[in-house]
Amino acid sequence: MQVSRRDFLRLSLGAGSGTALAGLVASGVNLAPAVARAQELRIKGAKTTPSICPYCSVGCATLVHTIDDRIVNIEGDPRSPHNEGCLCPKGAAIFQLHVNPNRPTQVLHRAAGAADWAVWDFERAMNRIAELVKKTRDETFIQTLPDGKLINMTPAIFALGGATLEIEFNHIHQKLMRGLGVVAIENQARI
Ligand code: SF4
Repeated sequence: MQVSRRDFLRLSLGAGSGTALAGLVASGVNLAPAVARAQELRIKGAKTTPSICPYCSVGCATLVHTIDDRIVNIEGDPRSPHNEGCLCPKGAAIFQLHVNPNRPTQVLHRAAGAADWAVWDFERAMNRIAELVKKTRDETFIQTLPDGKLINMTPAIFALGGATLEIEFNHIHQKLMRGLGVVAIENQARI
């Protein structure tokens, strides 16, 4: 049994989407054409740009659809030999990495003991981070072990990186951390 897009929307909205959808699927209705049609409308006239999911080292291929330089959709690239158009749940949500009204766009700082966040300008935040890193490193740096072995490390700083950052950033970040003597380094990008 086929269902038109109009029927699909009417049933979904009229009877409560969860109940209506479950009922349609249970009665053997094939929703694929309606879903495909809705998808087609969403990317109609969009420019398609091949890209790669940034979240992990699998590097699944994606297609990014844009209209007037705004991303309207991101999906798996079916031409890819290793993900064949599929994305895991995390990768399937890449759209929200770019288009998300809840994403913070300013540096927020909550002072010790304070209940509220304050907006800091970027320069001030970077200076404060640099100040605390230097202070912590100076106070905790271990140059040699009791037996005289040279180790040049600090156990007081932990570095966490993520695959949503570019590989170039992660590479430089690792170099900076190792240069500071940080040994507790974790990074999803596995570099
Ligand atoms: S879609 Fe999932 S498995 Fe593929 S690169 Fe992204 S996070 Fe990794």
